[in-house]
Amino acid sequence: MELYNSLIKETNDLLNGITTKSYPYIPSKAWKDIGSNELVLSRDAAFELGASGKGSANYILFTSSGDLVEKDEICVYGRDINAISSDSDFARIVILRVGALEMEDEAVYRTLKDIEFSKYHVYPEGYMVRMSSENYREQVRISKQAYRRGISFEALGNNYITEYKKNLNVLAVKVMFITDPAPDYRKMQEIAKKSRDVTETLTHIFEGLSTDCSVCSLKDVCDEVEGMKELHFGIGAKGIKH
Ligand code: SF4
Repeated sequence: MELYNSLIKETNDLLNGITTKSYPYIPSKAWKDIGSNELVLSRDAAFELGASGKGSANYILFTSSGDLVEKDEICVYGRDINAISSDSDFARIVILRVGALEMEDEAVYRTLKDIEFSKYHVYPEGYMVRMSSENYREQVRISKQAYRRGISFEALGNNYITEYKKNLNVLAVKVMFITDPAPDYRKMQEIAKKSRDVTETLTHIFEGLSTDCSVCSLKDVCDEVEGMKELHFGIGAKGIKH
């Protein structure tokens, strides 16, 4: 699954030069998970990450390359939560190395969709997440109590990695939290859109829809993403028109 590799490279380029802190995966350091999304009222909030008016982005990318995701890792670009005292820019990007790639293409795709849903199963105490799939933003409200108790990206990253690794096809997870104001958050949203385009095109392909590129609404994506047309035509459709 190398369809997302160019997007991983674009992401790394965007974050090049930003001060980074890296933590290993230590499941016992995960923040308490309460099993459902907690309502944190505005009056109980310390501040918000990725709030309106601030930079915000959220997306997930897949690869089979051990060079791109060597190991389970939590990376923080910019200030951690304890060093933040007011609303801040925020992005959370996850890159997964998946090992389902020897399977049939369709099975690989189903695995990717299953893995994507993992993000809806992480409910850290005092950490209310609102995702906007329309504009690729993620907004988080942190409760004063969680802030006082020392909630951190290191702890939260362990929550996410634990959830993703429940899927046996996930070999390694890199969770990136970004609060530095320097990187281009709009550009991150563009990458998020491209990632969704790739996943939607895979849906089109695996639902067995048209193989006539000349009338296909996804042609722009397939023209840009290396390997997409080969994937579609490799599935065995007949009468393909370029
Ligand atoms: S390969 Fe052609 S038909 Fe298939 S999704 Fe891409 S543009 Fe559409």
